[in-house]
This record gives sequence, structure tokens and C-alpha cells, in this order.
Amino acid sequence: MFIIFGTRGLKHTVSESPVLTNSCPNCNNGNLVNKLYRRWFTLFFIPVIPLDVVDRFYQCDSCKSAYNENIKTILQRSQQEIDENQKKAKQVFGRALVASMTHMSIIDNDFAPEEEREIMDAIAGFPEMKEELMSIHNQVKEHANKDNQVFNYLNEARNALSSEALINILAQAAVVLLADGSIEKEEENLMKEYLIACGLPKEMYQALIDKLRQKDISELKEGQLN
Ligand SMILES: [Zn+2]
Repeated sequence: MFIIFGTRGLKHTVSESPVLTNSCPNCNNGNLVNKLYRRWFTLFFIPVIPLDVVDRFYQCDSCKSAYNENIKTILQRSQQEIDENQKKAKQVFGRALVASMTHMSIIDNDFAPEEEREIMDAIAGFPEMKEELMSIHNQVKEHANKDNQVFNYLNEARNALSSEALINILAQAAVVLLADGSIEKEEENLMKEYLIACGLPKEMYQALIDKLRQKDISELKEGQLN
């Protein structure tokens, strides 16, 4: 009897390597499974002895696209970048929010307890930034817009955030404006300056105030002001 031997390549799933779920850059929702293509020594066409690892790669379980193994590093890096950007945006948002709310609360030279409560509520929404936001609050409370500090925070926000996020900031500053029950001329003018600083039309002022008076704050927060 003849002994027929040879080699052939077989694709294996690397079971100890975690599947990268919904990560396929091609179809966007396929899972990437780590595979290796190994050469086997065969006897009668049956693989019996594994030889060298020929190739390792990721393959999408949905569209079957294959990727070099370093796709994992690339995907992790971009997830890290997304996380980092989100963190930065949140910081920019928090600073502009507290600076403008505090500024609004002192512009009529009367820092009302309702106004302070609104600001403390806002700061409580950013537990990891509490110290920084309290320091911004105290700084603005004491020195108002000295060195343009409040508008610098708003500028930073304008450069980094969507207009929905900006409207959200201004809506909360407007809540402070309404908190003590009356709208002073200084407050109205300041709110219009904020709108301009955020690249929004100052005519939006009336819509903002009207919406807030109807207590449509949740709608405002979703950026559906029209
Ligand atoms: Zn795919």
C-alpha cells in the first residue's frame, strides 16, 4: 500500500483571543474573530501533525473580510481617542456651563439662593470635576468676567461642541436668569451676548425665555428649539 503524505493549510479560530464585537470596518457590525492559518502534515489527506503557523489574522464573521492582526491595536486606539474626546468635550461643557451660570447669577448684583442652588445642582452633575468647577464658580462669583474669563470658556465651548450642546449651556444659564423670578435688563443683555458668543442668533433669546417659561426644559435640552 502506498502511503500518501503531504501538507495542507487549515484555518483555525484562536479560541483564547477575544472576539472584537461589532468592529468590522467594512460592514460595521460584524464580529472580528482571530484566526490562524496553519500548515499541517497530512497522511492520506488527513491532517495529523500541525506545522508552523503560517498566518494570523482577524476575519469578520459577517462579511468575511480579513484583516491584519494589528487591526486590534488600531481599533483600540480609535476607541481610546473617542473616549478621550468625549472626556474633553465634557470638561469644556462643564466649565462653560458653570462660568456662564455663575456670571448670570451675579450680573444683577444680587446672588439669590435659588440661583446658587441651580449652580450647585449643575456642578453635582460633574462629580469628577467638582473641585475645578467650584474654583471656576468662586472665581467668577468674585471677579465676574475679569480678563474675559467667562467668554473664554464660552469660546472654548463654541470651538469644541455642537450647537445643541451650546444651547443646552445657554438654556441652563437662562434657568438662572429666571430663578429669582424677574428678568433684569442686565440679565437680558448678557444672555444676548452669550448667544452671539456662541455663534447663535440673538433673536433666539425670546424663544429661549418663552420655552423655559413653559417649562419645556427637557425639549430644550434635546436641542429642539425652533
Ligand atoms: Zn464585516
